[in-house]
Amino acid sequence: MTQTSAAPADLDRARAKYRAERDRRLDPSRRESLDLREHEELVEDPFMDVAPREPLHDTVDVMVVGGGFGGLLAAAHLRKAGLDRIRIVEKAGDVGGVWYWNRYPGAMCDVESYVYLPMLEELDYIPRHRYSYGPEILAHAQRLARHFGLYDHALFHTSVTGLTWEEDSARWTVRTDRGDEFRARYVVVAHGSFTSLKLPAIEGVDTFRGRLFHTSRWDYDYTGGDASSPLTKLADKTVGVIGTGATAVQIVAPLAESARELLVFQRTPSTVGVRNNGETDLEWARGQKPGWTKRRRENFTLVTNGEQITEDQVGDGWTVFYHAMLSNDSYGDLSPEEAAERRELTDLQHMENIRARIDETVGDPATAEALKPYYRYQCKRPCFHDEYLSSFNRPNVRLVDTQGQGVRRITARGVEVDGVEYPVDCLVLATGFDQDSAYVDRVGFDVTGRAGVSLARKWQDGPETFHGVMTSGFPNFFILPPNYTQGTAAVNFCHTLEETAQHVAACVGEFERRGVIADATRQDEEAYVRHVVDGSGLALLGGGSFLKDCTPGRWNNEGDPEARPRKNVNYPGTSTAYFSMLARWWQSGDLTGLTLVPAPDPDPDPTSRQAADEGDSR
Ligand code: NAP
Repeated sequence: MTQTSAAPADLDRARAKYRAERDRRLDPSRRESLDLREHEELVEDPFMDVAPREPLHDTVDVMVVGGGFGGLLAAAHLRKAGLDRIRIVEKAGDVGGVWYWNRYPGAMCDVESYVYLPMLEELDYIPRHRYSYGPEILAHAQRLARHFGLYDHALFHTSVTGLTWEEDSARWTVRTDRGDEFRARYVVVAHGSFTSLKLPAIEGVDTFRGRLFHTSRWDYDYTGGDASSPLTKLADKTVGVIGTGATAVQIVAPLAESARELLVFQRTPSTVGVRNNGETDLEWARGQKPGWTKRRRENFTLVTNGEQITEDQVGDGWTVFYHAMLSNDSYGDLSPEEAAERRELTDLQHMENIRARIDETVGDPATAEALKPYYRYQCKRPCFHDEYLSSFNRPNVRLVDTQGQGVRRITARGVEVDGVEYPVDCLVLATGFDQDSAYVDRVGFDVTGRAGVSLARKWQDGPETFHGVMTSGFPNFFILPPNYTQGTAAVNFCHTLEETAQHVAACVGEFERRGVIADATRQDEEAYVRHVVDGSGLALLGGGSFLKDCTPGRWNNEGDPEARPRKNVNYPGTSTAYFSMLARWWQSGDLTGLTLVPAPDPDPDPTSRQAADEGDSR
């Protein structure tokens, strides 16, 4: 790839161009989305039939909402902490979370498999590729569930509809949409960040007469093929894809190979860096010293957080840029203003290289220009792919650039852009996930804690947590925080989940050892919330204006980051800072910030144990 060199004089030109590209995309209607309750057919599970079963009425030790990597890791660590009856309740037909739902063709993980996939050494598994494909990741989630016996009490195709704390028995009562009503001593909600589909409110979407689905509900009956083989039924079809984010970047090449014609409707181009995937060198992997995946995962997170390091073990598109951008190695002696300018230059050079790759790859100059991203690299989620750009050289593939306006009208026959109708047989919505609605709305149920207080009411102005994982008035209740819920978000989200799951399991293990139920004190919670809210400005790279100056998108609340509820933030600084804060809390001893009261008999009703033990409810 051509390497360019940006000079300070280039900054003014870049800033002006970035501002102009941002301004033409500013539009409050970008936030509007369809009400999923009115489009249930778009949310149904296309992968597994729902098996009938009788409702359950029993008692378990822990109920975990969500069977993705967060829920699985929480359950696995709780198992290690000695908890016996652990019940995962999952809306999907199996474990896997995002990897259950996102089975679209070409699905793969952009974070290196050796650092992304949890517990590899413990489960004695070596990923086949450096960057794993979706089916292998889903199989690994299933491996985790089998290894820790998590299928035993799990309920699939089941959604929690309500949780109520019963003070007398010190139990949570759990109700579900399958008529279950059971009790749990602890609850962990591991709902994830990419669960609620985002269907943009495009005029006429209900009038479209072709096939329409979201990428996380891929209809292989319609397209033919599967995640890794050709989509045989598309040979005589015109397919339209709306969106050009991380998901679209992965589906375009397989669609281009299979469809008669492919139209890609773009609002904002993504950055597409080099992927360079390859099969794992098994000799190399087997030759690593025990503990290598943990050391590598921690190294990846340190590098991408800009910490001082002596070695970049992963050395890929994430680490090289993030280290150059964030580390103090090269900026230590500069004034804050000089360092900010140097960072901006590093960013500009990187973006120029990304734009140069497009010119080198895409034959048609107008298409190449339209595919070029004009914003700072971290304004959007970076993407990596080696066939996305070249797909636009195929005669059957066409980029429909909406000039920053997005698709605003769908007709009975297809998509209309700038007065031109593009007929399609099938429309794929690669439009992402809702991460901004109130937490309770995204999770899909309310929680009633002490004195009948509901979580929806308590969090009506945003989350109020202790360390991002507990909330006062809701004893023995934990969340594995998704983004902006006062926890943290490392580039490798599985690292965040692993650390948080271990913390939650350690808390529960300690409560068990002491025979107590635990609740966060209001006073300590308020102090934590103040700390994260006051410090959150630091989390905005380069200060408060960075996000605001970014091209509109979900990371900056469509161009208006200040309109986001003030409490919807992560822990100030990096995930390293958050993990260190949790470690310091443990070291300080005595569970500061929690009130502990003796727990009643953990299992007053022996028949309930029997009922739970006998019930494999898969
Ligand atoms: P996304 O990043 O939210 O992208 C949604 C896309 O839809 C954007 O390109 C957006 O344009 C576009 N869009 C929305 N409304 C539109 C309209 N009316 N007309 C035209 N375009 C419209 O969603 P995603 O690609 O599904 O990715 C979601 C997240 O999943 C990612 O951030 C990533 O964290 C995760 N993911 C991870 C992997 C992995 O490797 N681990 C792979 C795929 C996805 P704008 O940019 O203009 O808003």
